[in-house]
Amino acid sequence: MSLFSELGLRQAVVNALTDLGYEQPTPIQEQTIPQILTSQNDLKAFAQTGTGKTAAFSLPIIEQIDSDSKATQAIILSPTRELAIQIGKNIKEFSKYLNNINVITVYGGANIEEQIRGLKKGAQIVVGTPGRTVDLIKRKHLKLQHIKWLVLDEADEMLNMGFKEDLDKILEVTPQEKQTLLFSATFPKEVDAIAKNYMYDPVEISAGKRNIGADSVTHEYYLVSERNRYPALKRLADVNPDIYGIVFCRTRRETKDIAAKLIADGYNADSLHGDLSQAQRDIVMEKFRAKHLQILVATDVAARGLDVNDLTHIINYKLPDQTENYTHRSGRTGRAGKEGISIAIITNKEKGKLRPIEKKISKSFTHKQVPNGREICEKQLFKLIEKVKDVEVNDEQINPYLENIYAQLKDIDHDELIKRFVSIEFNQFLSYYEDADDLNGDDSKERRRSSDENFTRFYINLGKMDRLNPAKLMGIINENLNKNDVEIGQIEILKSFSFFEIDKAYADETLKAFKNADYNGRAIIVEITTKPKRRDRNRSRRKFSSDRRSGGGFNNRKKSSGGYGSSKKGNRYSSSKPTSRRSRR
Ligand code: AMP
Repeated sequence: MSLFSELGLRQAVVNALTDLGYEQPTPIQEQTIPQILTSQNDLKAFAQTGTGKTAAFSLPIIEQIDSDSKATQAIILSPTRELAIQIGKNIKEFSKYLNNINVITVYGGANIEEQIRGLKKGAQIVVGTPGRTVDLIKRKHLKLQHIKWLVLDEADEMLNMGFKEDLDKILEVTPQEKQTLLFSATFPKEVDAIAKNYMYDPVEISAGKRNIGADSVTHEYYLVSERNRYPALKRLADVNPDIYGIVFCRTRRETKDIAAKLIADGYNADSLHGDLSQAQRDIVMEKFRAKHLQILVATDVAARGLDVNDLTHIINYKLPDQTENYTHRSGRTGRAGKEGISIAIITNKEKGKLRPIEKKISKSFTHKQVPNGREICEKQLFKLIEKVKDVEVNDEQINPYLENIYAQLKDIDHDELIKRFVSIEFNQFLSYYEDADDLNGDDSKERRRSSDENFTRFYINLGKMDRLNPAKLMGIINENLNKNDVEIGQIEILKSFSFFEIDKAYADETLKAFKNADYNGRAIIVEITTKPKRRDRNRSRRKFSSDRRSGGGFNNRKKSSGGYGSSKKGNRYSSSKPTSRRSRR
C-alpha cells in the first residue's frame, strides 16, 4: 500500500491528512487520486459509504484548483444536506494548510441569502444538494461556466430521492469539457443512463466487487415471532452494553413507536424520522454523533447522510422492502477499517427476504439465538466489573467520608464486600431476567393452539349476511387498527356475526380502534368475548343471532351482551410490560 505523498499530493495536503489521522489511502483513494490527477477522462467509481470516497474525489480536486481565480471550478452534488455539510467540512479540513481555497455548501431548509452572500465572495468549490443548487443557478448566483470538475456523489441515492430532473438541469448548464466523476454504491439502470448521457468514455474504478457489503461487516439474523420482535431487540441491546447503533424501521410511525418504547424502558435512545423539523433533526444527530445517545431509531430516508464512523451495530428491526436499502443500512457499520455487525430480526414469514440480500452482498447471514437471561446477566456483570476497574476515583471528594465508610463496613470481609457491591446493580438484571422466556423461533403456530393464553377473542356484528369472509375481516381489522403486522388468531365467520382473535397486547387498541368504526355506513360493534365451552357454544350463537333478528338495535344489543365481555374486561388483557428499568440506566 502506498502513502498519500506517493500519490502526487502536496506536502501541505498530506500534513492536513496526517492531522486527521489518515495515514494510508484507502483502496478507492489509491486508485482515484492518481487517475484524476493525471487524466481528464470521466470517471465512474463503485464505492460504498465508508470507503473513504469523499477524500477520493476531493483530494485530487483540491490539488488542482486554481487558487488565483475566484471562479467556481468544482461542483459536488450530494443527495442530502447532512452529507453535503460533511463533504464541505472535509474539504475545509483537507485544504487547511492551503491559501485562498474557498468552499461553500448550499442546501435546502437553510437561509438562501446567507448562501448567496457566500457565493458572492467567491468559492472555487461548491458542495450542494440538487434542489438548492438548481435554485441558485436559476437566480444566477451560482455560475457554472468555469466548472472543471462535476462530482455526483451517491448518484444512486440522488436518483432514488427523485432528483433526476434537477440533475439533468445542472448537467445541462455545465461546460462540455469538464471532468465528471460519478460515485455510486450501486449501478441500477437509472445511474447507468446518467453515465451514458452525460459522461464521455468513462474510466471505471471499483474498490471491491460491485454491490458488495463492506468486508468488515458480519450479517446475523434472529428468528422470532412477531410479538417477540421488540423483546428480542431489547435483549440484543442488553447483551451488548456498549452498543452504538442504528435501529432501522420501515415507517415513521414504527420508528416513533419503537423509540418511545425504548426510552420508556430506560434505554439511551431517540428517533430520526421525516416528521421532525430540521432543527429537531440536527439536535438528535448531534446527540448521536457525540455519543450521548447509544441507539438511534431511524427510517432509511432520515438516516441518509448521517456520517458516523464507529457504529458497532446496525439492527434491521424490519428488513427493508428493497434489497438495495439493506446494503445502504449495513454499510453504515464496519467503516474506516472497523468491525461491524448488521442484524436482522425476522419472523418466519420474512425468511424469504434473506436470500436476495445474501445474493446482493455475496455473503451469508448467520442464524443466531436471541440471548437468554443468563447470558445477558453474565455480560452485564462483566461490564460492571470493567466499569469498577476503569472508574476514576476523585480522592479529594471521597476522602473526607472514608473513615466513616470503613467503620461501617469493618465487619464485612473483602470477598463478601465485593459480592455486595456488585450485587447492587446486578440484582436488577437478575430479577428482570429471572423467568425470561426463550424468544427464539416463530411460535405463532403453537400460540394458535394455546390461543386462550396469547390472544384476546372479539365479537364483531358482521357475518356471512354481510358477505364477510376471513380475508375481508382481516382487511377490516388492519384498516381500523391502521397496522398490518398485528397477529390475528382464529377467525369464525357465522351468519350474522363473527369472532376473531388478536394478539392480546393489542386488545385495548382494538377496542379503541373500532369505537366509531362503520361498515358501509353501519356502526361496527366489537367487543371482547371469551371462547364458550363446547356445550355453551350453540347457546351463545343463538343468543347473538336472536339479538340481530330482534332488531333491537346495535346499541341495545351491546348492553344486553354484557355477559360476553365488556371493554372493562379488556384491561385484563392489556400488555403487561416489565417494570421500567430506567432506574438502572
Ligand atoms: P467516506 O466514505 O468518505 O464517508 O469516509 C468514511 C470515513 O473514513 C470518514 O469518517 C473519513 O474521515 C474516514 N477516512 C477516509 N479516508 C481515510 C483514510 N485514508 N484513513 C483513515 N480514515 C479515513
